[in-house]
Amino acid sequence: TLLTDELVLKDQFPGLLAKGGADWHYLDTAATAQKPLAVIDATVRAMGEDYATVHRGVYARSADMTLAFEAARRRVAAFMNAREDEIVFTRGATESMNLVAQTWGAANLKAGDRILLSTLEHHSNIVPWQLLREKTGVAIDVCPLTDDGRIDLTAAERILTPAHKLVAFAHVSNVLGSVLHVEQAAKLAHAVGAKLLIDGCQAAPRLALDMAAFDCDFYAFSAHKLYGPTGIGVLWARKEILDDMPPWQGGGAMIDRVTFEKTTFASAPQRFEAGTPSIVEAVGMAAAMDWLSGVGLDRAERHERDLATLLRAELRKRNDVTLFGPEDGLGIVSFALDGVHPHDLGTILDEEGVAIRAGHHCAQPLMEHLGVPATARASFGLYSDEADIEALLKGIERTRRIFG
Ligand code: PMP
Repeated sequence: TLLTDELVLKDQFPGLLAKGGADWHYLDTAATAQKPLAVIDATVRAMGEDYATVHRGVYARSADMTLAFEAARRRVAAFMNAREDEIVFTRGATESMNLVAQTWGAANLKAGDRILLSTLEHHSNIVPWQLLREKTGVAIDVCPLTDDGRIDLTAAERILTPAHKLVAFAHVSNVLGSVLHVEQAAKLAHAVGAKLLIDGCQAAPRLALDMAAFDCDFYAFSAHKLYGPTGIGVLWARKEILDDMPPWQGGGAMIDRVTFEKTTFASAPQRFEAGTPSIVEAVGMAAAMDWLSGVGLDRAERHERDLATLLRAELRKRNDVTLFGPEDGLGIVSFALDGVHPHDLGTILDEEGVAIRAGHHCAQPLMEHLGVPATARASFGLYSDEADIEALLKGIERTRRIFG
């Protein structure tokens, strides 16, 4: 085997079996990861025999569920090497970034202030800041990429001024797999007095997270990309920043005391969690973190690097494939097959039982930068293996024969 660390976990993932039990090669984990039985079982239990509301019940079942819910918060804190009271449960990364824009952003940014994004950001780390710009008049700058598709931190250093109050970068690009040096970005942002927000969607399933070491100020990710359920995600922020942020959505659970004259609010993180939370999903996310940590983030990183390196090497043997992104991209490979639209490639591959993503990947400014309307993207998970790559290569060859 070409891989240093073969994982063979496929039998833990019912979602990897195509209907009828045929071979199915799932290469769209960057969009969402399939779920291991450990996570499915935990959510079924939470929705079944353990189910009850949290926080308000005086009966034992609700008290137990409240313990499980808050244990999930502790699990997330441990997963990120952060404090428990710095973990806000959200609906996902998109909501996490909108929350920061609408609370911290609206309270702290004004006309004349600047935000630095990068060319490779996902729309969910662009549009919330544009909405904020409409409200506050804040200006947005865009940090260019290096030739091989990384956020160019030398350029960032040149661009940043004391007017910059926020730098918001992806940790791992969902199109190119390029990895940001977070500590370095934090140093640059903090040198001009700006905060650093990291979109960790693609990093959380692939790299060990360490809020203490990263030294960023906000970190956002979704559970569904790290083998957990949809409908839940995390916003991590430094305690002193969270404490200073005004409430966001109003409702139950986020208050201290309500009268018609005046309402006082709960402290963070509850202040940002109005309404009945995603209880089942929180338990499922904690189970996913148990599972992923059990396999080992170091193995995840190595496995996905190895697979991406292997696929790039195989694709480079063809003279009709263009590869996007750096050599050491993590688990995600974007490419184009000459003369074939990525959607056509994706459709033919689907007939072969190979699921890839074809499109702009919610990163239209990056597509414009690459000079293409779309790319084909193969992305790996812990369950991915060389058979998936072989099937993809076979499908590409068949597509070539069809298109000539
Ligand atoms: N950022 C990145 C880098 C992503 O890959 C994604 C998901 N495609 C998101 C943000 C948004 O995540 P979600 O849709 O789960 O909110």
